[in-house]
Amino acid sequence: MASNLTFSFETYLVGGAVRDQLLNLPIIDRDWVVVGANYAQMLEHGFKSVGKDFPVFLHPDTHEEYALARQERKTGKGYHGFSVIADGTVSLEEDLSRRDLTINAIAKACDGRLIDPYNGIDDLNARVLRHVSIAFKEDPVRVLRLARFYARLYDFGFKIATETKQLISEMIAQGELNYLSPERIWIELSKALNGAHPDQFIACLRELGALKIILPEVDALFGIPQRPEYHPEIDSGLHTLMVMRQAALLNADADTLFACLCHDLGKATTPTHILPKHTQHESRGAVLAKKLAQRLKIPNDTQTLAIKVAKYHLYFHTLNQLRAVTILKLLLSLDALRRPLVLDQFILACIADERGRLCFEDREILQGEFLKECLIALKGIDAKQLLLTVDPAKIPEIIHLERLKKIKNVIKDYTWS
Ligand code: ATP
Repeated sequence: MASNLTFSFETYLVGGAVRDQLLNLPIIDRDWVVVGANYAQMLEHGFKSVGKDFPVFLHPDTHEEYALARQERKTGKGYHGFSVIADGTVSLEEDLSRRDLTINAIAKACDGRLIDPYNGIDDLNARVLRHVSIAFKEDPVRVLRLARFYARLYDFGFKIATETKQLISEMIAQGELNYLSPERIWIELSKALNGAHPDQFIACLRELGALKIILPEVDALFGIPQRPEYHPEIDSGLHTLMVMRQAALLNADADTLFACLCHDLGKATTPTHILPKHTQHESRGAVLAKKLAQRLKIPNDTQTLAIKVAKYHLYFHTLNQLRAVTILKLLLSLDALRRPLVLDQFILACIADERGRLCFEDREILQGEFLKECLIALKGIDAKQLLLTVDPAKIPEIIHLERLKKIKNVIKDYTWS
């Protein structure tokens, strides 16, 4: 949105908007940097201060974000270990120098001129993700952001510069990634799960050696074999990535993708003497998914779905062999009667699990339709009518029997091919 206001300071479009414009991608939001103004002057011009950690303001008309040009000095470990200088004396080049990647450090002046002191345009054209300066090391979140941009721009074929990989290896060796807060990890992970290639976010972190620090339970899956007759891809980590890929192709939401990420964690703790079998990996996986989700302080609904998918995905794969009582137990455990969306998410994660295997990608899967028919049948029970006709003490038992009858009818009428 254009603004009628005129200012005594300079403003430049920066970051993602410039990068995405140069890649001909749609611009999601526009961030601006302000050069030659201080905090008080911004307020005088009607900007509203919104930054908690940094001097960021909202434009009075457009409500777009304007940040004072700033420099940061490392004072401690992790994301909050910075002191910030933003007193109106910091130049545009100095501000761009503290940014993470060269492709994110291009500015555009109001007359359309591009200011690109770190050769971000060359890197955009050559499809390279490269750190701007050695200051990259000072904030471990940048490693997650790099993996996120790798995944986001995956279709463009971006590679990570060798010197950036080297720098990240040093950060890992110095323990800098251990200071990532759970909240920051979840923010970046959930953004990646909402993107088109969440599997590539995980693959990139692994390639960088960061997965074992951020998600050790997932990293441990790589190198664990599975039975080739069910899993021609063999490797459990690879399978997890393939499941995420299939889920993304089915437009799964972030919660479902997180469940896909965690669905087989139990395979990493299978006793070696039974490999490549994974007896009871579901219950072990549910415990690990809960531990991981609690460590990262992941929202309750997201946690619950991941735990349920880990625990019950084998029920889905063997559905046509299950008895009515087990199918009822599954639907009640998923709380499907009250939360049909959870059933949809569960079904989608399990379809992705079936298809996320080498040569199984195009499989037609009927279990989801079957479960939904069971749910419709259960919903058809007229509980009020039952309440009128039976002894109140017997109601739970009568409802249970009625539910079993309904599911048995669906089983009888269902054709699995
Ligand atoms: P997105 O479309 O995901 O918002 P973006 O590049 O605009 O992508 P933002 O998180 O909005 O990402 O950040 C805006 C800009 O601020 C980035 O392009 C980058 O220049 C800079 N930036 C953000 N976070 C960091 C960080 N942790 N370290 C260095 N620079 C950062």
